[in-house]
Amino acid sequence: MPGRLFVVATPIGNLGDLSPRAMEVLRAVALIAAEDTRHTRGLLDKFGIETPTTSLPAFAEGQRAGAILERLAAGHDVALVTDAGTPAISDPGEKLVVEALAAGVTIIPVPGPAAFVAALSAGGLPTGRFHFLGFLPRQVSEAKAMIEEVQALSATLVLYESPRRVGDTLASLAQWLGPRRAVVARELTKLHEEFVRGTLPELAERYAGVEVLGEVVVLVEGRTGDTRWTEDEVKRALVTGLSSGERLKSLTTELSKRAGWSAHDLYRLGLTLKD
Ligand code: SAM
Repeated sequence: MPGRLFVVATPIGNLGDLSPRAMEVLRAVALIAAEDTRHTRGLLDKFGIETPTTSLPAFAEGQRAGAILERLAAGHDVALVTDAGTPAISDPGEKLVVEALAAGVTIIPVPGPAAFVAALSAGGLPTGRFHFLGFLPRQVSEAKAMIEEVQALSATLVLYESPRRVGDTLASLAQWLGPRRAVVARELTKLHEEFVRGTLPELAERYAGVEVLGEVVVLVEGRTGDTRWTEDEVKRALVTGLSSGERLKSLTTELSKRAGWSAHDLYRLGLTLKD
């Protein structure tokens, strides 16, 4: 009979968030598969847990999964953890879970912190429906395509972002989605936890060129259907689009689908800006 695979959530900052059940499981299993064994060893040491670890880094999850599956096949229980939060959520784990399932292993979740849930729960935007995007692709054209896929959804959009790119990402989102309400949730569960709320253009302005410290989740309100952009908001989107080299005609056609303005009016306004 194969061992069981426990998928264990760990703190995203505050060590007090490691649940008693997580501790018990981490102590009891034969092996802990960790995204970064040194990082996890630090956590385990704090709780006096001596279970051996093996590495399951994101870049080699496929290669390393085999050895972990062998241990499971030999009847040993294994826990899977990542550096912070819930494994397999923008973190290694998905492949191992799929392969373990195929091998007839029972998968047991040990739930706990996940940055996107913490951000949603206290962010103040609708939580009834949300769409988790994880990290946007680095390539602007791919990021734009991903946002186009979801721009008609009324669900709140949830994104992970690296602190270095928050300003640029908010500027792009403001251009693609307009003046929707948004939240930047930073350093959740840590000393400098902060929620900054505003419209996308306001947040883009606030974070432009700013070096953000710590980790960040971005929430964006879903489409409400009744937003007609103000003239200032439309001008801002036109200027951003034109200065990044977009053609006025295609820019106005695209904006008209989102801004509640006719393509004709946008084009005329765009011409004055070009002048
Ligand atoms: N598996 C993790 C989870 O369950 O949330 C996510 C791991 S992903 C590699 C790391 C990203 O999660 C960060 O870039 C940031 O967007 C978000 N994140 C993690 N911890 C955070 C925190 N304490 N505050 C805000 N965002 C956080």
